[in-house]
Amino acid sequence: MSRLWIKNPLAIFAPEGVDAGGGLVLEDATISEIVPSGKVPSDPWDTVFDAGRHVVLPGLINSHHHFYQTLTRALPAALDQELFPWLQALYPVWAGLTPDHIAISTRLALAELLLSGCTTVSDHHYVFPAGLEEAIDIQIAEAARLGVRVVLTRGSMSLSVEDGGLPPKSVVQDEETILADSERLIQRYHQAGPGAMTQVMLAPCSPFSVTESLMVATAELARQHDVRLHTHLAETHDETDFCLATMGARPVDYLERVGWLADDVWLAHGIHFNGDEIHRLGATGVGISHCPSSNMILASGLCRTLELEAAGAPVGIGVDGSASNDCSNLIQEVRQAFLLQRLKYGSSKVSHRDTLRWATRGSAGCLGRKDLGTIAVGKQADLALFTLDELRFSGAGDPLAALVLCGAHRADQVMVAGRWVVQDGRIPGLELAELMETHSRLAKQLV
Ligand SMILES: [Zn+2]
Repeated sequence: MSRLWIKNPLAIFAPEGVDAGGGLVLEDATISEIVPSGKVPSDPWDTVFDAGRHVVLPGLINSHHHFYQTLTRALPAALDQELFPWLQALYPVWAGLTPDHIAISTRLALAELLLSGCTTVSDHHYVFPAGLEEAIDIQIAEAARLGVRVVLTRGSMSLSVEDGGLPPKSVVQDEETILADSERLIQRYHQAGPGAMTQVMLAPCSPFSVTESLMVATAELARQHDVRLHTHLAETHDETDFCLATMGARPVDYLERVGWLADDVWLAHGIHFNGDEIHRLGATGVGISHCPSSNMILASGLCRTLELEAAGAPVGIGVDGSASNDCSNLIQEVRQAFLLQRLKYGSSKVSHRDTLRWATRGSAGCLGRKDLGTIAVGKQADLALFTLDELRFSGAGDPLAALVLCGAHRADQVMVAGRWVVQDGRIPGLELAELMETHSRLAKQLV
């Protein structure tokens, strides 16, 4: 077993009260020792990485995304709209997605995330027009190539506009097809237990695009196979109005009715809850993926993060799809959460440490991953190392605070499961100019 000492970091985001000033020791894919300031590891080490220029974070974890949307960033037809008209402008475009679009958009989004310090990525793919039946299989192959840890959700839409939903018929599937494919993907790819690199979870898209019976059947299937559940909920007032009009219930009451008010569920956005709903979500341990940029761009509202966390709900961070962000940079999203939540709650209530915690331990909680998100013995060796040698950081006092306050946007070194996947700010073996050229060409073709 080989021991690597990440030595004497400039700063490190360890849990409150833990002195990790001397760095940490990794044994293969796990953290085996935390080294206090001024000390050396207790056992001999084989190699040293001198982190004197680096701020060390647990690898960032993205808890909500739609990779394919990197192909429809800043799309003129969808600009300046709120969620429902925005979706209606985009559905017909997304209906044209092909396997080539999925491969290139996945590769590009993963590269963007990795370079921003992200080591575990969750994606929510819910568009399956004819010919795109293997979208998740393609995503899994792309992730394996880059060495990033993924929690991919098999999304679904079953309620078309003809049946009272929002999406057109061309992008919905029948329940039987959805459930059979969900089971196929779990059986073929899902890894359980600590250190898993590939996981498959189930994710009907939203109350206005999925039938109630599919919500119930999906939860049953997920629980048979011990995988988690994900969906969009309480994102806009339009959604609340839709739920009241068609289901006779507010979104959280609907969630409870379909058996989803449980600790194996995490929700994207989670904005429009009342006090009683926050209490029920916290008491049952439902996770919330806060997506600040998307919520600001679509003017959806403000997630009540501190109240949700205090009630007992894990709160994570997600960049959300790149048609409503419009980028996939997770360390930038930490800053967005910091700014937005500080505006809501006040300067003394939200610190840079809170937002970094949401993007690490909080997101890990959403994904049900106890092995990730913290710098502690026994956790996976997933790390993001940033330098502060750009103009924006010059003269900064607290190096950890500087990452968030001065606006870090690119990691220097990133490690997943003990393996460097970003070195000197580059992904070895990936030619970014070529990737962008192909991606841009396919984006033009799609639109
Ligand atoms: Zn989303």
